[in-house]
Amino acid sequence: MANFKLDVDADGIALITWDMPGKSMNVISMDVIEELDALVEKVTSDAAIKGAVITSAKDAFCGGADLTMLERMGAIYADKVKSEGAEAAAGFVFEESRKLSLLYRRLEKSGKPWVCAINGTAMGGGFELALACHYRVASENPKTRLGLPEIKIGLFPGAGGTQRIARIMQPADALQFLLKGDQLSLDRAKNSKLIDAVVPAGDLVKAAKDWIKAGGKAVKPWDEKGFKLPGGPVYSKAGMMTFPPANAIYRRETYDNYPAARAILQVVYEGLQVDMDTALRIESRWFAKILRSPEAAAMIRSLFVSMQDLNKGARRPASEPATNLKKIGVIGAGFMGAGIAQVTAAAGMQVVLIDRDQETADKGKAALHKALSDRVMKGRMKSAARDELLALITPTGDYNALKNCDLIVEAVFEDRKVKADVIAKVQAVIGDKAIFASNTSTLPITSLATEFKDQPRFIGIHFFSPVDRMLLVEIILGKNTGDKALATALDYVRAVKKTPIVVNDSRGFYANRCVLAYIQEGHLMFLEGVPAALIENAARMAGMPVGPLSLNDETGVDLGLKILRATEADLGAGAVPPEQKKLLEDMVEKQQRFGRKNGKGFYDYPQGAPKKLWPGLADLQPKKLSREEVDAIDVEELKQRFLVAQAAEAARTFEEKVVTDVREADVGSILGWGFAPFTGGALSYIDMMGTKKFVALAQKLEAKFGKRFAPNKLLLELAAKGESFYGRFAPKKKEAA
Ligand code: NAD
Repeated sequence: MANFKLDVDADGIALITWDMPGKSMNVISMDVIEELDALVEKVTSDAAIKGAVITSAKDAFCGGADLTMLERMGAIYADKVKSEGAEAAAGFVFEESRKLSLLYRRLEKSGKPWVCAINGTAMGGGFELALACHYRVASENPKTRLGLPEIKIGLFPGAGGTQRIARIMQPADALQFLLKGDQLSLDRAKNSKLIDAVVPAGDLVKAAKDWIKAGGKAVKPWDEKGFKLPGGPVYSKAGMMTFPPANAIYRRETYDNYPAARAILQVVYEGLQVDMDTALRIESRWFAKILRSPEAAAMIRSLFVSMQDLNKGARRPASEPATNLKKIGVIGAGFMGAGIAQVTAAAGMQVVLIDRDQETADKGKAALHKALSDRVMKGRMKSAARDELLALITPTGDYNALKNCDLIVEAVFEDRKVKADVIAKVQAVIGDKAIFASNTSTLPITSLATEFKDQPRFIGIHFFSPVDRMLLVEIILGKNTGDKALATALDYVRAVKKTPIVVNDSRGFYANRCVLAYIQEGHLMFLEGVPAALIENAARMAGMPVGPLSLNDETGVDLGLKILRATEADLGAGAVPPEQKKLLEDMVEKQQRFGRKNGKGFYDYPQGAPKKLWPGLADLQPKKLSREEVDAIDVEELKQRFLVAQAAEAARTFEEKVVTDVREADVGSILGWGFAPFTGGALSYIDMMGTKKFVALAQKLEAKFGKRFAPNKLLLELAAKGESFYGRFAPKKKEAA
């Protein structure tokens, strides 16, 4: 066997060690399923084997399924629909996708005791294997996480996970665990009875074998007569306290946009009413259905496959040797600079944090100290970890401290003159190797680079706020940016555990440009008289995590006005809707409503209470709608306007080559500004609908609401030829070409 090693000891206990060659992590692949099948068969049929312990030789136990395997199944399904018809194709997916579930059930019913010796993190199908075993013992390790995170990519656990979890935990807890895709520490897993014991690492295999030797039972509770569900029968008082409210919570959290989440509710509800074998068949039916859903396909592609490609350096120039970044200079110890210093130090790099003088630099570090101490107070960080992180950050006003930095990231005021002055000071001390990056959100990188004598070493690294929480970073190429700068920026972004996308220099780069289209749509609806609450809710229903008015409050209403004015100054008076500008002028200049920062924006932010829409908003609406007119508003159309406005803008950035890779456009849209994740991203949304249908919808909205919905030339062409973004631009095809 390539992936497992089998040793049977003198007591007849088989030790199965999972160790996939050439991989840092074990995953469930077709090969693994085949070999595991043979192992289960061997343990079951060999009378000399009394029981089996399965463990891993890697740091982790298993990372989950190899999702490219599921992607391939999707492709075969699509082919079979064409060649054999939809029913036969669905039958194929059902049979193929339940192989693992049947295998785990054979293991569970083998009549021999199986113990999972969990030596490290176990996720997805790997954790489902553990759940199928009769006993689970883990080695002490604070880093170990156990979970079924499938929901995060539009799937759910399809190898018995939903049924075993719901027979171990209370149903409400089980649903929560499955719907959130939570990753549990060993303590929490033990408290929830998902594992049986935790032992010192050196004793793991011994403890597992001892359990078998002591007569560990090879029958699961649910396969014994008289088994009682932890929460009682579904049709009971307790069951009725769980399932109907769970439906309501599901609706509140997802607006029914996530078929996999709905399926979890369904399989748990249905599965708990029948015996285990029937329950597993129900789970498999739903799993095969969800696997064929466009949402799962789009989410697997963007949130797993593409994200992994980008994280592994899909855009990194292969000719550049790996950089080994040790010391980073951060200029500007303000809001962004402090955040950048934080994530850099958290990755173990030394940081020189510079501001105008020692005192201001110290202030920046002190603000960070306070933010981290708040986390310590809330139990989210150990004080030792905080101190270790802060010890790596040296605040100073002296540029000489930058001397042996590998990379400088500038985050000073958004002011050309201030930036030029900083660039001059930096280049006087850094020598001819270090890379210079600007975190500017609006100034063109190409023009800032002219302040730097060696332009190939100048690049944009655009973090989003708050830096510690946002997962995306845009790397911006100026006209003359060189490969070394790009490779260094990509290595740095990966070191700080963010996902990079590489975009070309242009106004607003990629993410801000598209997110402004979203916020603008909210403003324009508001001016049409649509009630603010309806705007916010329709946006959430469309799949956006935050309504446009809330989002504007977070980013700053005053900043919004500043951007509109700058856009007008650069592109001319027609570039922004005058009524939108007037709305923001009224908000900022007449009403002093800047957003969350001063506690007054589209919302009010009362101390110690949840935010509420500002009652004065209606007075800023030039158009008043009657009750009948409000009732007649087409909510579906509001939802479409939000997504189409953003997707049309994303398509423009793609045509203009601001973003050049469909994977980056999609991953960037979800991680950068939360574009409805169930769609797989802004371009996947268009592909999912079909370019023809999208263009027809965009044109309908254009006729009704204006030019901002007009499909661009590329979209018209794709639609006319019946093509899609991924069909034409998917990276593999590009490489082959
Ligand atoms: P900020 O005002 O909080 O911080 C700027 C810091 O720069 C201040 O500490 C200031 O003292 C310092 N500074 C000013 N002049 C300096 C000089 N000559 N030398 C050294 N330090 C100097 O601003 P911020 O929000 O952190 O923004 C910084 C940069 O990041 C801007 O370019 C901005 O466009 C960009 N950015 C901001 C956000 C955001 O959401 N705030 C997001 C992405 C990018």
